Amino acid sequence: MNRKPTVVAGGGGFIGGHLVDRLLEEGNAVRSVDVKPFDQWYQVHDGAENLCLDLKLAGACGEAVQDAAEVYNLAADMGGMGFIENNKALCMLSVLINTHMLQASLEAGVERFFFSSSACVYAEGKQLTATADALAEGDAYPAMPEDGYGWEKLFSERLCRHFSEDFGLLTRVARYHNVYGPHGTWNGGREKAPAAICRKIAEAKMSGNHEIEVWGDGEQSRSFMYIDDCLYGTQAILGSEIEEPINLGSSELVTINQLVDIVEEIAGVKVARNHNLSAPTGVRGRNSDNTMIQERLDWAPSVSLHDGLEATYRWIYDEAAALAGVR
Ligand code: NAD
Repeated sequence: MNRKPTVVAGGGGFIGGHLVDRLLEEGNAVRSVDVKPFDQWYQVHDGAENLCLDLKLAGACGEAVQDAAEVYNLAADMGGMGFIENNKALCMLSVLINTHMLQASLEAGVERFFFSSSACVYAEGKQLTATADALAEGDAYPAMPEDGYGWEKLFSERLCRHFSEDFGLLTRVARYHNVYGPHGTWNGGREKAPAAICRKIAEAKMSGNHEIEVWGDGEQSRSFMYIDDCLYGTQAILGSEIEEPINLGSSELVTINQLVDIVEEIAGVKVARNHNLSAPTGVRGRNSDNTMIQERLDWAPSVSLHDGLEATYRWIYDEAAALAGVR
């Protein structure tokens, strides 16, 4: 338990909203900060101090981390492949958030700083087939990450490292692999594959038009981590002695077509799949090598893809139904 505030930057977002909830449950004082107006936050927790600030600005970062003991920096301008492939400059501008948050945290005497990096830092040449080897931490170098978003994450990882080495700010970095769950982006163009597939199947079920678009041939592969596992790992990594970036993800590799199979089963509906071969799909195959996190933290994800998708589908179905005025 910590009475000095724990700051969650990006608290109006998907992972941040859940993390604030968890920290409050544990009895911490929490300050949740996001650039979005409050009515666009996925979760607003009354028990937290909620601030609407643009963390690209140095002064706002100073306000956000004032008197804080720990900082989780989850704020970033991001989304699924449809967003990051078409908004590289916007993604790279998140470097302002990370730079100013690190500097402000150093000046405020913050004890521990967490940065949410991404599997998008891994070299593209190691992800050319759907059955490519799982990515171990060393595979980020020689560097050739996802253009835009991945380069920004890799640069910010190094910024964390050098703030630690040169200035003594304790930083911890997790490389998240596709996190999913309720209370996240499910429409509007920034959603990721699990939420997009859940939404499309929910809409197909509601409309009776049992047909969906699938991006690419659907044979591209990924692993997906449920939000509860992500929160547990995030807190464990911040509290650990692990100084280098570490994978936080599932190692259960599935194709997008298999993801559709699972959601069809949960929804109790079969859909025809129209494969859009010109849609953005990212690398062909990506999985998390969890050797390091298993050895260092004795951690492995505990929520199966089926169970996690079930909870996610139910939430997205209700959101989509409310939006469509269907009940
Ligand atoms: P999200 O988009 O739901 O949350 C990010 C939040 O940051 C948003 O609410 C956004 O408004 C906020 N933000 C953006 N610019 C800001 C600014 N200038 N000032 C203050 N707030 C700002 O995304 P998420 O899925 O919750 O991801 C959280 C973090 O984890 C991000 O850094 C993301 O890059 C990283 N990550 C997520 C995944 C995933 O699968 N969800 C995978 C890899 C890495």
